Amino acid sequence: MSQRSRSKVSVFVILSLLLFSLFFVSAPLQAAVKATPPGMINSVLGPISPDKLGISLMHEHFTFAYPGWYADATIAPEDFKAALKINIGVIKTAQKYGIKTIIDVTPNDAGGRNPALYKALAKKTGLNIICATGLYTEHEGAPTYWTTKAVWGMNLPKMMSELFIKEITMGIGKTGVKAGVIKIGSSSPKMTTYETSVHKAAVIAQKSTGVPIITHTDGPLGGVEQAELLIAEGANPKKVMIGHVSNSKDIEYHKAILAKGVYIAFDRIGLDIITPFDVNLKNVTELCKQGYANQIMLSHDTVNVWLGRQTVLPEQFAKAFDNWRIDHISKDFLPALKAQGVTDEQIKTMMVDNPKNLFLGK
Ligand SMILES: [Zn+2]
Repeated sequence: MSQRSRSKVSVFVILSLLLFSLFFVSAPLQAAVKATPPGMINSVLGPISPDKLGISLMHEHFTFAYPGWYADATIAPEDFKAALKINIGVIKTAQKYGIKTIIDVTPNDAGGRNPALYKALAKKTGLNIICATGLYTEHEGAPTYWTTKAVWGMNLPKMMSELFIKEITMGIGKTGVKAGVIKIGSSSPKMTTYETSVHKAAVIAQKSTGVPIITHTDGPLGGVEQAELLIAEGANPKKVMIGHVSNSKDIEYHKAILAKGVYIAFDRIGLDIITPFDVNLKNVTELCKQGYANQIMLSHDTVNVWLGRQTVLPEQFAKAFDNWRIDHISKDFLPALKAQGVTDEQIKTMMVDNPKNLFLGK
């Protein structure tokens, strides 16, 4: 073999080895993100079947803070171990009542969304935990990062939807935890321009991934406006849950949202300071009697751990939050509904079937 052909061969060998090693080095990296099989839900520990959800609480928070809490973190840093311990206690209480799934709907720009915590909690307790991607309202979220881009004409719905889709299909940061729902919100009495962008982004992401949209409404209004915009943009109404309708005492408002074909959530049961127990009881009972049980979900919107310094309540409010607990629906609200004539079948519909159907779009 000539000098020249020998060097040709060695270049070939080196190149082949390089390609070969590149393939084997990169293969495990690519394999690390597996596509969620069709029809399955992203739990924080991986895909689960909708049939595995069981009794579900659709709107809770393991840890939460309003944006800006991190500015005070020198005084009150995040304590992962304490959050783990407190939340394990809360989850065990919920499990005593047969709760199988909790959705933590904390959006990206609030404090407290913590995939590592969710994973640890799910592993230690066996609870199904589903977490969210999404952005909060303009006045309670952190819109400035986005709105300063909008000034220069950048396309917010497109940019936001890229974020949501990546967190649903590839995972949140490098945690490997994929979001299972999209969380959005709007201000009262009217949605802002920024929030309109967030809603549009949510629909783009739903069309691409099939994931449900869960909303926050501020005050006693906004649900109809949200449902109309989401549907106009092309969302599947059966994959939309309009949240915090229990902010309103007015059953006609609830029915106006229901007429859009979406799910509604009485998801602040126990926050009696917003709407008293008896008012929620009367409204849910009446809606069940009128045949709406298959569009209603119940949850508490509890926050088990607040990041940052603790809010100290004035004396007169000391008892105001006594019912804001993870077992309040199971222990107090469901028995009260039954006493009003709501059937076991309707309760199963609200607590088991509707959560599953929201993911299935049924
Ligand atoms: Zn919430």
